Amino acid sequence: MIRIDNLKKAFNGFQAVDGITFNVSPGEVLGFLGPNGAGKSTTMKMLTGFITPDSGSVSLCGFDVSNDPVAAKSLVGYLPEGAPAYGDMTPLNFLSFIADIRGLLGKHKTSRIDEVIHLLELQSVCNRPIDTLSKGFKRRVGIAQAILHDPQILILDEPTDGLDPNQKYQVRELIRGLAKEKIVIISTHILEEVTVVCTRAIVIARGRVLADATPSELEARS
Ligand code: ADP
Ligand code: ADP
Repeated sequence: MIRIDNLKKAFNGFQAVDGITFNVSPGEVLGFLGPNGAGKSTTMKMLTGFITPDSGSVSLCGFDVSNDPVAAKSLVGYLPEGAPAYGDMTPLNFLSFIADIRGLLGKHKTSRIDEVIHLLELQSVCNRPIDTLSKGFKRRVGIAQAILHDPQILILDEPTDGLDPNQKYQVRELIRGLAKEKIVIISTHILEEVTVVCTRAIVIARGRVLADATPSELEARS
């Protein structure tokens, strides 16, 4: 369960997030939809503890993110927008590096990396530099990194942006599978992303919630 209560964040006097409140329950795939500059990334970064809110609170599975940032980091997996950093590493090296940061050790580390490589079907590319892979593979490496520590909450920033239709389909199928056991939040400016994969949508603009609806309700309005 995620509880977000009256979150606010300003940058140099500009109110990027202006009082956002919502809850997300297990089983939901929440689309966080809004135009560029709406405050999506800032909100998501407050969920992961990456940015500290000016006021309001975020509670993840009963842990308050401000009081317990370590718990928050272990509960959340995050896919940043775009290609993974460290493009000169191979997926195998990159996942090993992330596993070290996450504190996965010994046999457990090796078996979990193996499991994630199979799940994301990265076997054929796991020894090639990430920079040399297709966008679809790069995105799958990003998702592999996000789920490596088996978080209960998965936050995906523009997960299919820039992918061709086939790669989009594959990533969306993957998200559907992951959503069976995790709360998934997809941050996006694309309505289709929400109507195709999400069970619920929150629309934000100028740092405020404009609508909280099912994807079909949103489609009917647009
Ligand atoms: P979105 O993800 O919806 O595109 P963001 O949360 O990235 O929106 O940004 C919301 C607003 O806050 C934008 O106007 C952006 O320029 C501003 N902003 C975001 N991060 C910073 C920052 N670190 N410093 C100053 N302004 C920022
Ligand atoms: P950079 O040096 O460009 O910040 P990072 O790898 O630290 O490179 O981050 C890449 C992007 O992902 C940045 O925009 C950063 O704000 C975001 N990011 C990284 N880790 C997190 C996190 N735990 N929560 C939210 N955003 C994150």
